[in-house]
Amino acid sequence: MNRQPAEPLRLDFLIKAGAAHSMVSATYRAVGLYGQRIAAVSADPDGLDGLIGQATTVVDAGDLTLLPAFADSHEHLMEASRNTLKVPVDRARSVAEFAGMVGAAARAAAPGAWVETSIGWHESNLVENRLPTLAELDAAAPDHPVLARRGGHLAVVNSVALRAAGIEADTPDPAGGKFGRGDDGTRDGVLEGAAVYRVAAFAPTPSRADLAQALATGSDAYAALGVGTIREALINTDEFLAYQEAREKHLLSVRVRPLIRVGSELPTDEAIAFIRGLGARSGFGDDRLRLWGLKFVLDGGAEGAALEQPYASDPRHSGHLNWDPADLTRVCVEAVRRGWRIGTHAAGDRAFRTLMDVYEEVTTQVGPLPPWTLVVEHGLLSDPQQRARAVRGGFGITVQHPLLWNMGSQMRLTWGPERTRQVNPIDEWLAAGAALAAGTDMVRPFNPMTGVWGMATRGTKTAGVQGPEHAIDVATALRLYTMGTAALNGETDRLGSIAPGNLADLVAYPADPMALDVDDLADLRPAFTIVDGVPVHDPDRRLAR
Ligand SMILES: [Zn+2]
Repeated sequence: MNRQPAEPLRLDFLIKAGAAHSMVSATYRAVGLYGQRIAAVSADPDGLDGLIGQATTVVDAGDLTLLPAFADSHEHLMEASRNTLKVPVDRARSVAEFAGMVGAAARAAAPGAWVETSIGWHESNLVENRLPTLAELDAAAPDHPVLARRGGHLAVVNSVALRAAGIEADTPDPAGGKFGRGDDGTRDGVLEGAAVYRVAAFAPTPSRADLAQALATGSDAYAALGVGTIREALINTDEFLAYQEAREKHLLSVRVRPLIRVGSELPTDEAIAFIRGLGARSGFGDDRLRLWGLKFVLDGGAEGAALEQPYASDPRHSGHLNWDPADLTRVCVEAVRRGWRIGTHAAGDRAFRTLMDVYEEVTTQVGPLPPWTLVVEHGLLSDPQQRARAVRGGFGITVQHPLLWNMGSQMRLTWGPERTRQVNPIDEWLAAGAALAAGTDMVRPFNPMTGVWGMATRGTKTAGVQGPEHAIDVATALRLYTMGTAALNGETDRLGSIAPGNLADLVAYPADPMALDVDDLADLRPAFTIVDGVPVHDPDRRLAR
C-alpha cells in the first residue's frame, strides 16, 4: 500500500526543560507532545523548534526537571476515593477529636444510619497513640452503628454496629479474623482480618454514580502529586462497574490497572466458579482502564501477618493464613489457565514461604509463565532463601516503603525492632536479581517523592531510620516507581519512560531529584503533571498558552 506523505508534524506542546530524565538512558532538554503521545525528544533545548506550529504551546521550563509520571504498583484508589464520601477522621489529632467528628456525623445522619469513617487514618497520628475504644464510640454515637475501618485489616466499631451485624458475646471468630475482647473478656469493638468484612457487609454501599464521581475527586488528588498510573490493588466486581462508568464519563485523571478480589471466605469451588463467571481476563480494557488481574489476600497486616516466629508483642500469636495452601493452589491454577495474572498479599515471612510453595506448584502444573504473571504483594518480611525462590520462579514483588514509613513504630512493637529493620530490603532483592515495582499502599494520596526519599534513606514517619543498610540510590528508586511498575503492568513499550512514541505521562519538578540533597526530596512537589498529553495538574499555569 502506498501512502501520501503525512503533513509535517506540528507539536501540541514543546517543553524546554532544565533536564528530562528518560529513565532508560538519556537525559533530554526538549520534549515534544502531539495528541496523547511523546512525539519527539532532543538533547538540545532548541532541537525541536522545527516542529513548532501555530497551535504549539512552547513551555519555557528551564527551571524544571521532567520525569515520567509515577506509576504506583499497589494503591487503593477506590477506597481512597470512597473515603472522600466518609467522615475524614484522618484529620483528627486526638481521640477526642476523632470521637467528636464521629459524634457530629451521627447527629447529622438519619436515625439508625451507619456512620463510616475514612479508612486512611492511623492511631499513631493521635496524641494518645491508641485506637479509640468501644466506650468512646458508644458515647459519641449511642444510636447509630459506627464503623471506623483503619486500612485493610483492622476496624473499631461501637456496640450498635456489633448488634447490627449480629455479633454476640459468644459468636466464634471467623476464619482468618478476630472479634476483639478486652482484658475482662467482653467485646472491645476491635475487628481484625475477616472480622472487618463480616461487619462491613452490613453497612450500605454508595451508588455506582456516587463512586464514579468520588473517583474523579480521588484521581485528581493523585495526579496533583505526579502520579500517572495506579495499579488498583483490590476491588470487587461492582466497583469495577463504577470504574467503567468513571472511564466513560472521562472522570479518571490517572490510568488505572485494577485487581479483582477473590475472597478467602469462599469455599474453593465457589472461588473457582466466581473466576469462571468473570468472563474476562487480564489485559481487557484500554490504556486508561485495563484489568490487571486477580487479588488474593494470604495473611494480615502488622497485626495479623503470618510470621515464622511469634509476635514480639504476644508470644502465643504468630498471625494467620487466610487460605489453605492446597486450596489456593487449585484456585490459582484455574485462574492462570483462564488468562489471569495474580497478585497475592503476603506480609509475613511464613505467608511468603507458603506463597512460594503455592506459586511453584502452580508453575509445575501450568508450565512456564510470562514475567509478572504471579506476583507477591508487599513481601514485608522474607529470608534470603525464600527470596531466592521468588527470583528463580520469576515471581515479581511489589514493594511499598510507605508501609514501613507509616507503621514503623507499630511494627517495632508487634514484630520487634530486628524484624522491622529487615522490612522490604530492596537492596538485597535487587542484588538477588528480583523483579520489583514500587508503590505506596497508603489508601490516601501520598507524595511519591516521600516514598523515594524513604527508599533512599530508610526514613520513617515516627520510628526514625529503620535498617539504613537497605537504602538504595535515588535513580534506582525512581526507576522502580516508573519503569518497574510499567514492567509489572506489561507496558514498558508505552509507559514508564520518556521516549518517542510513548504515551505522554509526565511530571515536572522545581528541582532535579537526581541532583538534590536527598533530605530535600521528601517534600518535593510537582510544578505540573500531564497524563495522556493533557495537563491534569498545573497550579501555576505553566502549560497555558
Ligand atoms: Zn493494599
